[in-house]
Amino acid sequence: MKINKEWHLKNKMPKNPTLKQRIEWHKAHAKNCACREMPKSIKALLR
Ligand SMILES: [Zn+2]
Repeated sequence: MKINKEWHLKNKMPKNPTLKQRIEWHKAHAKNCACREMPKSIKALLR
């Protein structure tokens, strides 16, 4: 698994994120980093 450390430092998940923030974060994360899979619950919401 590859971690994009730089991206993570610049894109921290906010504390107590809203659902929208989580979705946006995971979308951006999937594009920029492959350290972990998008949770199924988030994937389902993107469909
Ligand atoms: Zn990552």
